[in-house]
Amino acid sequence: DTIGRNLDRAVAAHPGREALVDVPTGRRWTYAEFGAAVDEVARGLLAKSVAKGDRVGIWAVNCAEWVLVQYATARIGAIMVNINPAYRVHELEYVLNQAGIEVLVASTEYRTSDYSRMIGQVRGKCRALRDVIYIGEPSWQRLIDIGRDVSDERLATREAALSCDDPVNIQYTSGTTGFPKGATLSHHNILNNGYFVGETIRYSEQDRICLPVPFYHCFGMVMGNLAATSHAACMVIPAPAFDPAATLRAVEQERCTSLYGVPTMFIAELELADFDSYDLSTLRTGIMAGSPCPVEVMKRVVAEMHMAEVSICYGMTETSPVSTQTRHDDDLERRTGTVGRVLPHIEVKIVDPATGVTVPRGEPGELCTRGYSVMLGYWEQPDKTAEAVDAGRWMHTGDLAVMREDDCVQIVGRIKDMIIRGGENVYPREIEEFLYSHPKIADVQVIGVPDEKYGEEILACVILRDGAEPLTHGELVRYCQGRLAHFKVPRQLRIVDSFPMTVSGKIRKVELRERFAAG
Ligand code: ATP
Ligand code: MG
Repeated sequence: DTIGRNLDRAVAAHPGREALVDVPTGRRWTYAEFGAAVDEVARGLLAKSVAKGDRVGIWAVNCAEWVLVQYATARIGAIMVNINPAYRVHELEYVLNQAGIEVLVASTEYRTSDYSRMIGQVRGKCRALRDVIYIGEPSWQRLIDIGRDVSDERLATREAALSCDDPVNIQYTSGTTGFPKGATLSHHNILNNGYFVGETIRYSEQDRICLPVPFYHCFGMVMGNLAATSHAACMVIPAPAFDPAATLRAVEQERCTSLYGVPTMFIAELELADFDSYDLSTLRTGIMAGSPCPVEVMKRVVAEMHMAEVSICYGMTETSPVSTQTRHDDDLERRTGTVGRVLPHIEVKIVDPATGVTVPRGEPGELCTRGYSVMLGYWEQPDKTAEAVDAGRWMHTGDLAVMREDDCVQIVGRIKDMIIRGGENVYPREIEEFLYSHPKIADVQVIGVPDEKYGEEILACVILRDGAEPLTHGELVRYCQGRLAHFKVPRQLRIVDSFPMTVSGKIRKVELRERFAAG
């Protein structure tokens, strides 16, 4: 179905239950109020002559208006384009032109980002752009005001003309491995995916989901918002951008039952000096996803954050995003050591990247997925689409994985991150998993750096735990000896304060490699 009609069902079934809470501003909406607020924005966009298929950009930090624009654009058949709030002028200009955005909704400023100034700088260079609406400014109120003249019939007629296969969203990938690509996704793609993710973690109208993950990314808007509304659960926004203390405060105040994050977010929360002072007893579940989820971190989340049923998801923007997910009734080994089983109506195969032939169970290969979840294509980049999605509609993910005997999938790493040391394939993930068990190590990334003798050498970048004594390379080597094959022992150690990250919280190994390539 379409996202708008799906929302109508939640509104009709649970009008009085809470749909959305914006903690920083203290605003809250029941489903009835949320449905009405979405319609106000939808009418405003119709009054601004936004036609079916027109692109409406959103360049904003997390806030309630973001969510209203998401559902309002879906309701009128516009294609919302998510723009990463960390972009700067040249990336903004690229996206505005690449996607042909006509109307842009934006934050005015946040911390060091002056969005209105940057928009001013590119506006003249973006041909399609005809209107900018600033959240919280008079232009937002004007949008609502002009919408009052749009009749219910006009809104209903527009919605009746929409099909579930229409594009609803262009989501740019995180840009972890290169320049972000705009995945075009339909109602069918992302609504189904949100629904099945929510079903797998057993959402109902009783659930309250704390969402510190960015909305511009599929983690926030699909696995968060669409999973919530398709099960009439409540979306809780703890802060405009990730803040570990604000997140735990929101869980406590709003009595959240579910909490999301990429691994680094959970690590930051667990490492808070006053971690023990938060009451997290209402938590039941949550999702960790987006990058490799270390077993040690998963165990701490289960034990220390009350998230007994926490789930790991694996996916990518191009596949709406989730392909595999762990279930609450999987045992701890499965729930911490794998990314779970394939979701309903999705197929997975693991192939030899060189030949395309399916490899036996237990052997690593490139994970390919097929099903309703595969994107329509990269927006106006047919060559890139053809490289990623083959003629049989299989999406080639670029991730290395193993299919186990019990049908659970293990992600071994990205093809691009694999280290080849002296002809030996080394998967950084395996070494990272091992190093997480070191008592001084809070977070660790393993990369390959150029080496004359071996082609590549292994370097470990470590963030020490709060208050830990210094860690020497000799100590690290002794810790590895006898427990890691000699060729996997890091030859270099760098202690760092943080890792270069994408806004969606992923570590940019490319940048780490560039930083340390010179030794
Ligand atoms: P780009 O494609 O622009 O380089 P990206 O691939 O990081 O960026 P996303 O679509 O946000 O952009 O992320 C998808 C990728 O994230 C997957 O291909 C995979 O490498 C990684 N990933 C997602 N979930 C998991 C997980 N549970 N375990 C390991 N890796 C994961
Ligand atoms: Mg990718």
